[in-house]
Amino acid sequence: MGPKRCAVASDETLMRIFTVPEAPDSTLSKIELEISNNLVGFLNENIAAIEKPLHEVEKDFQSAAIPEQPMFVSDYAQDIMEQLVAHSVHTASPSFIGHMTSALPHFVLPLSKLMVGLNQNLVKIETSKAFTPLERQVLGMMHHLAYGADESFYGKWMHSAKTSLGAFCSGGTVANITALWIARNRLLQPQGDFKGINSQGLVAAMMHYGYKGLAVLVSERGHYSLGKAADVLGIGRDNFIAIKTSDDNKVDVQAMREKALELEAQGIKVMALVGVAGTTETGNIDPLSDMADLAQELNCHFHVDAAWGGATLLSANARPLLAGIERADSITIDAHKQMYVPMGAGMVLFKDPHATDAIEHHAEYILRKGSKDLGSHTLEGSRPGMAMLVHACLRVIGRQGYEMLIDKGIAKAKYFAELIKQEEDFELVSEPELCLLTYRYVPKAIKQAIANANEDEKIDIYAALNRFTASMQKRQREAGRSFVSRTRLTPVQYDNQPTVVFRVVLANPLTSEAMLKEILDEQKQLAKTDPIFKKYLAKYI
Ligand SMILES: *Cc1c(COP(=O)(O)O)cnc(C)c1O
Repeated sequence: MGPKRCAVASDETLMRIFTVPEAPDSTLSKIELEISNNLVGFLNENIAAIEKPLHEVEKDFQSAAIPEQPMFVSDYAQDIMEQLVAHSVHTASPSFIGHMTSALPHFVLPLSKLMVGLNQNLVKIETSKAFTPLERQVLGMMHHLAYGADESFYGKWMHSAKTSLGAFCSGGTVANITALWIARNRLLQPQGDFKGINSQGLVAAMMHYGYKGLAVLVSERGHYSLGKAADVLGIGRDNFIAIKTSDDNKVDVQAMREKALELEAQGIKVMALVGVAGTTETGNIDPLSDMADLAQELNCHFHVDAAWGGATLLSANARPLLAGIERADSITIDAHKQMYVPMGAGMVLFKDPHATDAIEHHAEYILRKGSKDLGSHTLEGSRPGMAMLVHACLRVIGRQGYEMLIDKGIAKAKYFAELIKQEEDFELVSEPELCLLTYRYVPKAIKQAIANANEDEKIDIYAALNRFTASMQKRQREAGRSFVSRTRLTPVQYDNQPTVVFRVVLANPLTSEAMLKEILDEQKQLAKTDPIFKKYLAKYI
C-alpha cells in the first residue's frame, strides 16, 4: 500500500467524483488500460497463482462499520487489487475447465462499460427507450431460434404492447421460476366465481379446482433452482418430484408417466413436466419429444430447462440433439453460459405469445396498461440493459460463429473422452453428449481390486475413492495451475452408489488439446502424493 494520504468529505470532492475522470496516470486508469489492452494478461498477472485460505481472505473483510472518512480512488484501487482481484478465481484461464461460465470476448468489456454508463432501467420504457425494443428483439431472435415461427408472427408479436415472447432476467433460476409461475397461474386460472390464483391465492385455488396438491416432475439430474421455484410458488419441495434416469443420465419417461398417473389418481395435479437440455452435472439431454408427448397426454405445461445447453440450438450440426424443444411451452436459456455473455443474462421464452397474460401486472404510476413496458411481464423490477450484450454477441459472433464455438467445444470433449479412455489409470464416467464430461482417477490396480472384492470391501473402496477424488480435486485447485470441478453421480459401474467424479466443461475456445494432456499429467502427479490415497487405498494395491 502507498503512503496514507487523507481524503476529506466536502462538496468539492463529491462534485469531483461525479464529474472529473481519473487522471491518465492514476492507479485506476492504469488498471483500465491494462484490462483494455490484454484482459487475460492482466488476470494472469494479478490473480495470485497459489490459493490463499478463505479464512485468511476474510481478515481483509472484517469491519462491519461503514468507513466515516472518504478515500482516494487510487488508494481504493490499490486495496482491491491486493485484497479482491488477487484472490479471485481465474475463470477466463483456458486450463480452468470446471465452470459453466468461462472466457468472454474482448468487445463485451468496453460495451459493458457503455451499458453501465447509460444506466438504463428495463422495467419501463420511460427509463430505457431504445433498450426496450432491443431487448424485445433479442427475445424475438431467441424465440425464433427455438420455435422458428414465421415472419408475420414476429411482425405481430415481437414489439406488441400486449405480450412478451419471453422474459429477460438475471439468470436461469429466475427464468425457471418465471416459467413455472406461468404454468401455475395458467392451470389455476379464473373460472366462474373464482378470480384466479393470482388474485385469491393457492388455498382458494386448490379448493376451487378440487386438487389435493400440485406436482412438478423432473429428472433426478434437474437443477436445484427448480426446487427453489417449487418452494416460492407454494407447490412445496416434496411435490417437486425427481424421476430416475437411465444409464445415460436421461430421464426415464416411462417412469415419469407411471409416477404422473399415480399422482393424478391421488388427486394431485401434475402442473408441469420439466425436461433438462444439458444437465448441469453431465450435460446430457432428456428425451424431449417423448416428454412433449407425455405432457400432451397429461394436459400439463412442458418446460425445458436449457439454461446451459440451449446455446446448442445455434449449431445446425448439434441442434438435432435437442429435437422436441420446439414443442415446449417455455424454455430457459442462460446467455451467460454457452453464449459467452457476462453474468446476469438469463432468458425464458414462451411458445404462446399470450403466456405472459397469466402473470401480467400493472401499477398505475409505473407499468401502465397498453404500454410496452417489459416490467409488467417480469418477476424482477429494475433491471440493467444486459440484453445489449446478448445483442452484441449475436451480431458480432453471428450464428455461424456460434456454430463453430459450439461444435469445437463438443469435438474437444470427445477428444478428451478418448484421451481418458486410453489411460489405464483413468476412467470416463459419463460420455460427453455436449461439451461436458465426467471422469475420475482409478489406478488399474484399484480397478483390479474392485473386480476381486466382496460386497463389503467394494463399499469400502468406493468410499475411499470418493474421498480420494475430492482430495485430488481440492489439491489441484489449490495449486492454482488448472481447475476441474467435481460432482456426485450414481453410475451403474459403481452399483448406483454415490460416486464423486471430476467434471469438466470445455467451452473456452482457448483450451488446447495440449492443455488437456497437461491436466491429466498433473492429476497423475497429484495422485502419487495424495495423502488420502496413501491412507485408504494403497493397501488394496
Ligand atoms: C445454471 C443452470 C441453472 C441456473 O441458472 P443461474 O443462471 O445460475 O440462475 C438452471 N438450470 C440449469 C440446467 C443450469 O445449468
